Amino acid sequence: MSSFPLLFDLGARRPTTRDVADLVKSGGTAALTEAERRADAATYQEVTCRSALNPVKGMPFNWTLNPYRGCTHGCHYCFARRYHVQFEMNADDEFASVILVKKNFVDVLARELDRPAWTHEHVAFGTATDPYQPIEGHYKLTRHAIAALARARTPIGLITKGPMVVRDRDVLGDLTRAAGCTVYMSVPTVDEDAWRTLEPGTAHPLQRLRAVRELVDAGVNAGVLMAPVVPGFSSSRAKIERTIKAIADHGARFVGCNVMYLQDGTRTHFLKFIAREFPAMLPRFEKLYTKKYPPDWYRKEIQAMVKVLQGRYGVTRREEAEKTPEPVEAAEPEQVGFAW
Ligand code: SF4
Repeated sequence: MSSFPLLFDLGARRPTTRDVADLVKSGGTAALTEAERRADAATYQEVTCRSALNPVKGMPFNWTLNPYRGCTHGCHYCFARRYHVQFEMNADDEFASVILVKKNFVDVLARELDRPAWTHEHVAFGTATDPYQPIEGHYKLTRHAIAALARARTPIGLITKGPMVVRDRDVLGDLTRAAGCTVYMSVPTVDEDAWRTLEPGTAHPLQRLRAVRELVDAGVNAGVLMAPVVPGFSSSRAKIERTIKAIADHGARFVGCNVMYLQDGTRTHFLKFIAREFPAMLPRFEKLYTKKYPPDWYRKEIQAMVKVLQGRYGVTRREEAEKTPEPVEAAEPEQVGFAW
């Protein structure tokens, strides 16, 4: 991989994501003739990035970091699917099988963090792709980026479904001591059918929970996001209860939850997937998702159920862990009955 041939003749540099998008637009992904197809059947295209820290607006954080684009975990509900369209690729198979690797990511990040103007603001790591998808084992971009963030005393929150994060507990520990670090392990459900169906490229949910335990044991602030709960697949009370119990049993420092939302390319992909694999469920999804989010009553019902169960199993709510306290319930509310 070190002597990676160029995608097309650009002199001594690798193509940018824009170059890749232009080429794919004219010739499809088949035009990425020099990209490398690896044993996992995905194609990896090295690119040059001009910046690593990405400014964002309207979020609880102002900066994001994503060393890769596309994700071989291939979750059908993934909100980041729609971003692949920026590269003239589709939000279906190409999102999970054509991965862009920002080869110079760590050098660019280190330069940005060295700037006197850098204010050491909190950075969200892994917002558009999983930083611990399998190819990270080869490139180690995430690992070296965390080390650079520790040197620059810049705090992060990192979200992943990859147990490989345990490999980096040493640098995560360094960052924890230098500036602060929270790892959000995404485990939407421990239900095996839902996992196999919705997250075809990810590690088993219990393997992810064991990774949480190992991080916590190593002194890293690690918890779980049930992100997302998918109506009809992982939304029953029994499945949510089993998941929260497993999260508590593995020593997670906190748990959060959100309900799936569907937007743009992600919406198109997910509804196509349902129509193909579970046609009987399609009318219910179409009814529930007339907009990007399901109706308020639905989300509130899920959140209420999760809140009851968090209390029952004694696992801290994410909001409390992030120090935005809410009134504590004096007594457990009525059991919430929920079917779909
Ligand atoms: S692991 Fe995360 S980024 Fe990757 S496909 Fe699943 S939801 Fe998307």
